Amino acid sequence: MGTISKRSRKEGQGTFRQRLSVFLHSSQLWYAAAIILITFVGLLFLNIYAPRTIRNLIFSSQKTAMTDKAQLIVSAFSSYDSLDSQTVNDVIHSVNDLHTTRLLVTDANGYCLYDSLGTGSAVGKLTLFPEIAEALSGTDAVYIRYENNQFISKAAMPIMAYNRLTGAIYLLENDRDQAELAHNLQKTVLAISIALEAAIVLFALLFAELFSRKMQNVLLSVRRLHHGDYSVRLPERGNDEVARLGSAFNELAERLNQSEVVRKQFVSNASHELKTPLASIKLLSDSILQNEMDASTVREFVTDIGNEADRLTRLSSKLLELTRLDSKPVESREPVNVETVAERVLRMLVPLARRQSVHLDLDCAPECMILATEDDLYQILFNLVENGVKYNRPDGFVKIYATQDDAQVIIRAEDSGFGIPEESKPHIFERFYRVDKARSRKAGGAGLGLSIVHDKVLRYGGEISVQDRAGGGTCFTLTFPRENALKEVQK
Ligand code: ADP
Repeated sequence: MGTISKRSRKEGQGTFRQRLSVFLHSSQLWYAAAIILITFVGLLFLNIYAPRTIRNLIFSSQKTAMTDKAQLIVSAFSSYDSLDSQTVNDVIHSVNDLHTTRLLVTDANGYCLYDSLGTGSAVGKLTLFPEIAEALSGTDAVYIRYENNQFISKAAMPIMAYNRLTGAIYLLENDRDQAELAHNLQKTVLAISIALEAAIVLFALLFAELFSRKMQNVLLSVRRLHHGDYSVRLPERGNDEVARLGSAFNELAERLNQSEVVRKQFVSNASHELKTPLASIKLLSDSILQNEMDASTVREFVTDIGNEADRLTRLSSKLLELTRLDSKPVESREPVNVETVAERVLRMLVPLARRQSVHLDLDCAPECMILATEDDLYQILFNLVENGVKYNRPDGFVKIYATQDDAQVIIRAEDSGFGIPEESKPHIFERFYRVDKARSRKAGGAGLGLSIVHDKVLRYGGEISVQDRAGGGTCFTLTFPRENALKEVQK
């Protein structure tokens, strides 16, 4: 086992390449990759669409602002049926500060009458900018574009007086502040996205590696358990699925460990029990062969050999019975009348009881029915009454009582025998347990009868307990679900 453990531990630690290969094949890595990919795509969309949306918002607010400003100026000219430089200058100065980069006013032919630009003024020149040309043809022209880190807004509108075109206005506005704001926002979103994605990659891989390591540990422990190392345990920290898996694994390992201990104990007890009668047989037969004996001594020795052979037969049939109980599922149950079976048991044990001068008695309420098999109930009662007779004094008694209430049938097997010491009661149903080994062996017992009784009672949903009988002796109490009650539950 030592070599296996060492090998498994080595496997668990593994070389870097082995661990890398395990990690690359772990499902968690694929989950991590999926999370990384999904968040990457999400952040990519955010980085593309968020700045675009902000820019569109600024575009539409700029457009509204430019339209409002242009309409304000145009409405100031609406009462003049013809425009000249003087009129235009007067009107422009009467309008409050418009905060534009450039303001142009032309006449109906496109000649500039006013230009807010100091140097390079277009006054007196034909200024047919595409927007002005559009306005002179009678339509409003508002254009916003983003260029060289600034929003450039252009608006031109026709000036109408009494349904006649008298000129056009042209507004130009360069906005760096809003452009910078949008740009900074874009940079911030990008920086946060990169940091977020880096954190997601880091944590996803870290968790995948951690989970993969934990699962590797579980796998290694399963292998060690498989090779018979029942001492292996997994850590149960936390309440996640690995911790729950660990606790389920530990429970399993503990149960396997216990059953291994029980199995070893059972095998060693069984072989010891088998060895004793075999040794007696060998001794007796050697004595017959080696010594000159008269016929009556030989007969005595051969009788002893026969007794030992009987004991071996009883032992092997009990061992077989226990194996059957361990492995075979419950056979089909049938309603069994306790009184009928108890009567049969007592009849069967009358010869033994007579030999020991023990009186047998039965006090059974009518129609006490349980769901079991007749054979199993027979064996339960037989073992209890047989024990009551074997471990009794001359002129003692064994009595079976059976009663029932709404839910259960209660059976008591009472005897006036030696009783069972308090310290032995918790062990009485263990396999091969005997209170007084010498007396029990003399009585032909191997300490298996009560464990068979116990297993059978539990098999039919019953319970068994042992108490001292008032006035000396022992009382075994058995409770079984009543046949009717059990049928109701099963419905
Ligand atoms: P065995 O085949 O040795 O009788 P059991 O499992 O039937 O094995 O009983 C276990 C031990 O419990 C016995 O060895 C005996 O010492 C004790 N025992 C069982 N039944 C009684 C009883 N009715 N009165 C006193 N001791 C009992």
